[in-house]
Amino acid sequence: MSIADVVRTAADRYGPATAIEDSHGTRSFTELSDRAHALAGGLRDLGIAVGSRVVVLLGNSVAAVEVDLALAIGGFVRASLNPRVGPAEWERVVRDCAPDALIVDTRIAGAAEFAARTTSTVIAVDPTASAGPSLDELATVAADYAGLPTPEPDSLCALHYSSGTTGIPKGAERTHANRLASLAAMRDQVLAGTLDGADPAVFLHAGPVIHTSGLFVLPVLEAGGRQVLLDHVGPAGLIDAVGVHAATHTALVPTVIARLLEFDDDRLSVLRRLRMLAYAGAPMPVEHIRQAYRRITPNLVQYYGMVEAIPPLTVLTAADHRRGVIDNAGLLGSVGRACPAAAIVFGTHDDPVPDGEIGELVVAGPAVSPGYHNAGTRTDLGKSHVDGHLYSGDLGYRDPDGYIHLTGRSKDMIITGGYNVYPREVEEAISAIPGVDDVVVVGLPDEVWGQRIVAAYTSAAGARVEGDVVLAESRTRLPDYKRPKAAHRVDRLPLTALGKVDRAAAATLLDALVRAAS
Ligand code: AMP
Repeated sequence: MSIADVVRTAADRYGPATAIEDSHGTRSFTELSDRAHALAGGLRDLGIAVGSRVVVLLGNSVAAVEVDLALAIGGFVRASLNPRVGPAEWERVVRDCAPDALIVDTRIAGAAEFAARTTSTVIAVDPTASAGPSLDELATVAADYAGLPTPEPDSLCALHYSSGTTGIPKGAERTHANRLASLAAMRDQVLAGTLDGADPAVFLHAGPVIHTSGLFVLPVLEAGGRQVLLDHVGPAGLIDAVGVHAATHTALVPTVIARLLEFDDDRLSVLRRLRMLAYAGAPMPVEHIRQAYRRITPNLVQYYGMVEAIPPLTVLTAADHRRGVIDNAGLLGSVGRACPAAAIVFGTHDDPVPDGEIGELVVAGPAVSPGYHNAGTRTDLGKSHVDGHLYSGDLGYRDPDGYIHLTGRSKDMIITGGYNVYPREVEEAISAIPGVDDVVVVGLPDEVWGQRIVAAYTSAAGARVEGDVVLAESRTRLPDYKRPKAAHRVDRLPLTALGKVDRAAAATLLDALVRAAS
């Protein structure tokens, strides 16, 4: 099966029903398939060779989905740029991957100037843009797209860029086989039958389709669900959109769920209609999981994965959440069990540590990326691939029931007074203090201890917890070497462009707060 097969089969089955929509319009399953194939052919007609890299700079939109499918169908390699990170970061990605074409929405701030500077062929979404042929023109020039050859499973469909250890973006390679493996595991383990039912499923893409939300595009398409693309909505807009679109499914990062929990129960009640609220991308404090279960929906599903090993590698199912909330709290601190195709061990792949012992999470299987673009010339790529095994940089262990627990990333581990302290454990303890909402813990350099644990936290709505209360409470909740030496209340934790807590920015902020207070 290929991605083209998924798109065409969905068109045959669900034809005129709405497949995708955004605030500008809709596409039926038939239109989406025709358009994606026509765009793939149009790119060929434009002289873009199979296997060429195509950089895409689009917001969450119908265009983003059809371009993604078109590139996969045509055998091109997509490298998506995050509109939020701005031109300097876009330039770095372009320098690393040297694309043949750029598909751009010039209405994104800075995008028109960026497109004007590039030497690649430019295709604009907006027909009024002066940048190059528009998507509509591209979709009409194709002479014959029926004969496009099916890309080989091991050929590349995307480069997924994230920060390298020196800040130069690194592009993890993704194959067609990686993506189809994700489709199967998303369908069977994460969505797990929730798309079926008398009422059609409606999936709300509230997070970027270029990241984790995009993993739901193919499984929802395959099942005939409607997909609604939201661009730039805050938590209030998201709640409204669930009601307006009668959404049944969505996927969010934990920081967005934390923002939802700031609303009262009445406002949140519309979210009870969700048949699935998936979350991933970063640890979610256990207290937030409990509250989300009680106040938003019990239909929570957590999954884990990364750019270099396409999610889901593990899944904490809705049934696991139920058991976790009722009588097995330990489950809520885990990322669930490994998906059948993901071979996960801890330590090293040829000599793993026994269950219960902490080691680096190492994964093999169809989810694992073959490597990084330009791997031969770069020394700052961080995660390593050894004999088909990916060393994830995440530390954790497997418990006797097979559930996987992550203790943090190896680079975030704090070594204080010779002890290893995993920020996650300290963060869990602090976030359970009444009135504390979210927290990040980092190690700052310390002449005596090597590193000193410091915390930044936010107060829950209506509460105002002082730093000395956090320190006093920590004394009753944590052994002395794991206690923060300073705790600073902030209005918001710093976030990355993908909505995860930005630990590097938090360390800089805490360094300044600690200096100012001393
Ligand atoms: P990225 O490669 O940007 O998708 O980030 C992947 C990293 O996010 C993983 O290596 C983990 O450190 C973290 N992560 C992803 N999902 C989860 C999860 N469910 N729980 C805890 N951490 C997660």
